[in-house]
Amino acid sequence: MRLNLTSLLASETGVAGGGRTENHITLDASMSPTYSIPMPLARELVHSLPKVLLHEHLDGGLRPQTLLDLAADQGYAGLPESEPDALAKWFQRGADRGSLALYLEGFAHTIAVMQSPDALERIAFEALEDLAEENVVYAELRFAPHFATTDAMDLDAVMDAVHRGCERARAEHGIEYGLIICAMRNETSAHSLEMAQLASSWFDRGVVGFDLAGEEEGHPSKHHVEAFQLIQRRNGSITIHAGESFGPESIWQALQYCGAHRIGHGTRLIEDLGLHDGQVVHMGGLARYILDHRIPIEVCLSSNVHTGATPSLAEHPFPVFLHGGFRVTLNTDNRLMSGVTMTDELVLASEQFGCALGDLERLTVNAMKSAFCGYHDRKRILAERILPAYRQAADANPDA
Ligand SMILES: [Zn+2]
Repeated sequence: MRLNLTSLLASETGVAGGGRTENHITLDASMSPTYSIPMPLARELVHSLPKVLLHEHLDGGLRPQTLLDLAADQGYAGLPESEPDALAKWFQRGADRGSLALYLEGFAHTIAVMQSPDALERIAFEALEDLAEENVVYAELRFAPHFATTDAMDLDAVMDAVHRGCERARAEHGIEYGLIICAMRNETSAHSLEMAQLASSWFDRGVVGFDLAGEEEGHPSKHHVEAFQLIQRRNGSITIHAGESFGPESIWQALQYCGAHRIGHGTRLIEDLGLHDGQVVHMGGLARYILDHRIPIEVCLSSNVHTGATPSLAEHPFPVFLHGGFRVTLNTDNRLMSGVTMTDELVLASEQFGCALGDLERLTVNAMKSAFCGYHDRKRILAERILPAYRQAADANPDA
């Protein structure tokens, strides 16, 4: 089956069909377009496909060489390695320790060099340049602006520098983007409210959403409800990291206390599902709500293994979510820390979980439909940049 634009957009607010009976979800192959392409998909093919990335941290995706350059410029002597390859490996080793708290330690080094307008502009520009090189057509970059205010910049100066870098990348490389402002779970509610005010004051200058990040355990999102209410009153969009290092209750709070429109990770939603032979045979109320309301789940495969959100890649609930009809998207989270690219994550989905070209198309369409940019932009990017390229890829790769 080939999806066409009319049916895609008609289903924008609808409930996806396929396979659901009273209390039993079966894998319905018709939910992804089916093409006859040899499996797993070749890296070259995946690299060539248009991609959409909704969950990537600006301070987790620096080029190693840039980190070294900026540290030298700014007199930061804290980097543990002096060669780019060794530095990249150091970050990956540090991230891959099965703990979110340990995963977050590496950010001290990236944040240390994000303390000048020029550094921030360069980092934002290069992030989008690198994504454009692997054919990401739309990306949402997120960051916590207050981490960059330790030296010379105030919050608006930080925003201005990042915005400038993104605009330059859009002009030079044609990649479209949105910025998401992160508040941190371990900060006070007064602080998250200040970040919400900042985000909303930049809604017409590149900012498309608001997020809550950081360690979940002991830092519930409901402590920050005032910030989310402000975003709601200003008609803003909300995504919240939840279900990564804490269970379904954290996801429930993000949705029902804080009004999240998307869930970052959502890995532990699996605990609200009953499985038999890999099939969903029971759904709790939270899972049913997420399925029925088409709440997008920002899955980050490699990062989830590194932080211990899933015991192993093989046990990741991604295929259960995908084939159960949830609106799943695939994301990198932190390209430097996890040592991945968007292409890598899609290749991984093909190698590990058998995702075919039609599945990658579905994941990409899901992501574009779930983006926080405007409806007409989503529709245009789908029609002009995503769907024709998938059709062309299918035509160029004859039956196996
Ligand atoms: Zn994240």
